[in-house]
Amino acid sequence: MKAAMLEALNSISVQNVPDPACGDDEAILEVHACAVCGSDIRIFHFGNDRVKTPAVIGHEIAGRIVKTGSAVTRVKTGDRIALGADVPCGTCRWCTMDMGTNCAINYAIGYQFPGGFQERMVLNSTTLNYGPVTPIPDSLTFAEAAIAEPLACALNGLELAGFGIGKSICIIGLGPIGCMMLELSRVFGASRVFAAQRSPARLDMARQFLPDARFIATEQENLVDTVMKETGGQGVDLAITTAGTVQAHDDAIRMVAHRGYVNLFGGLKNQPKLTIDSNLIHYKECFVMGSHGSLPRHHRLAVELIAKGAVHAKKYVSATFPLEKTAEAFAYHESRAGLKVVVAPQGEKAAWT
Ligand SMILES: [Zn+2]
Ligand SMILES: [Zn+2]
Repeated sequence: MKAAMLEALNSISVQNVPDPACGDDEAILEVHACAVCGSDIRIFHFGNDRVKTPAVIGHEIAGRIVKTGSAVTRVKTGDRIALGADVPCGTCRWCTMDMGTNCAINYAIGYQFPGGFQERMVLNSTTLNYGPVTPIPDSLTFAEAAIAEPLACALNGLELAGFGIGKSICIIGLGPIGCMMLELSRVFGASRVFAAQRSPARLDMARQFLPDARFIATEQENLVDTVMKETGGQGVDLAITTAGTVQAHDDAIRMVAHRGYVNLFGGLKNQPKLTIDSNLIHYKECFVMGSHGSLPRHHRLAVELIAKGAVHAKKYVSATFPLEKTAEAFAYHESRAGLKVVVAPQGEKAAWT
């Protein structure tokens, strides 16, 4: 079979590899869709401690079970399955406290475990026992179901920040996750939604997801001043940084309301440290927190929200590429021409079935 192999930094090529073996407690998933994530691109250029090359990465996955070991009960041959990325070990202190995103081992598909940029992949026993392995409703295509992984991370971010009915939010950064937060703001019952993005072009792509949000192009308007002015100087109940920049983090702390939450959602890579007057936090009694990844229950909810039409997964998929063109799919992602790119190891048509 074919696999897009990450051989070294900045080097990925499609190769013929042996089919994965299936142990008694394992299953084989035929991958129909694997969306490209910003973190795939970071691994491609900069590597990751949890990825040992040569490796197959890719963790936003949907496909069909084609083989199961004799001891497997969770899935059966023919099942259509979406996968999340983070796999709780199920036994460490954090996992037993429903805090699997902080798992002491921190397993993830497309990291220590083989990923989805290949025709078939093994689901090992840890994944089958504790992982985000979610059946796909008949109404959803594989390409749509693959989008559940990043959506699950967005859900975790809003849940941990205690977001809910009647609260105001500012989403800083309108990439795919920022757009998902826009849709989720409505689902969660937000009162007011501010949405910020540097360039007006990217911002225009986001408008469709919540047309009545207040969109701010930070190239043209000062974000903090605008939010403070339009909230009567009060700020927002939740400021969430879906852009991983120091500026976003700084702005978020400045615009949050008293007793509000700041979720530093977007991680920083190779950037200067955040320096801020901590009295801002002290006197506002605000909560500065972070979140990353998701739990299997978030992934199940994400699939459900997509199936219900609360989140329009189809709108996020700007392009599909066959497995042979995985490198081109990465380049497309980096060009920022669209939102999400899906690699389709069984062909582009099959991804939409
Ligand atoms: Zn991802
Ligand atoms: Zn654990």
